[in-house]
Amino acid sequence: MHIGIDLDNTILDATSAHLHYYNIASGLSFTPDDVNDFYLYRLYGWNQDEIDAVYIKYGHDIHWNSSPLPMAVDILQELYGRHQLSIITARPPCFREVTMDWLKRHDISYHHIAFVENKLQACMDAKVDVMIDDGPHYAEQFGRANRPVILYEQPYNLSVAGDRIYRAANWMEVRKHIDCLETQLNLV
Ligand SMILES: [Mg+2]
Repeated sequence: MHIGIDLDNTILDATSAHLHYYNIASGLSFTPDDVNDFYLYRLYGWNQDEIDAVYIKYGHDIHWNSSPLPMAVDILQELYGRHQLSIITARPPCFREVTMDWLKRHDISYHHIAFVENKLQACMDAKVDVMIDDGPHYAEQFGRANRPVILYEQPYNLSVAGDRIYRAANWMEVRKHIDCLETQLNLV
């Protein structure tokens, strides 16, 4: 299968890294328990110019210092041997280098990487069979297009549901969904 995989809050814990640097920038002290919005910066009440400035200043450190989610590296390694893996992230291309360095640092193997906002289009173009992502809007878009998506569970996507939306609370559950989808594809 060709599997599309998001990075932030899917392969790695973006929430903790963002909060750490956003707290430094703001002098506030939010914790992961305060996060209930995919757009975490909204907690801080910044306008677009402010968030852009903070992201330009701290983005590199945020991305470099994020930790992989439990079992993500091991399971990706396992999947790499059997499937085509495309990392599909909406990070801006200016963070391409730190992103690729981070993947290398954590020994994460993949076949392709794309920096795009329109993930649905990217997946259709590249014939991706299933996307793994935490973004509520992406899951809904994929669901509406009748394309399977494994929704990596985060506090802000708990209400998202649909026929082709497969919820995973951790990477062991991601692997189970991949195995089921592979069986279904082979039966078609
Ligand atoms: Mg994400």
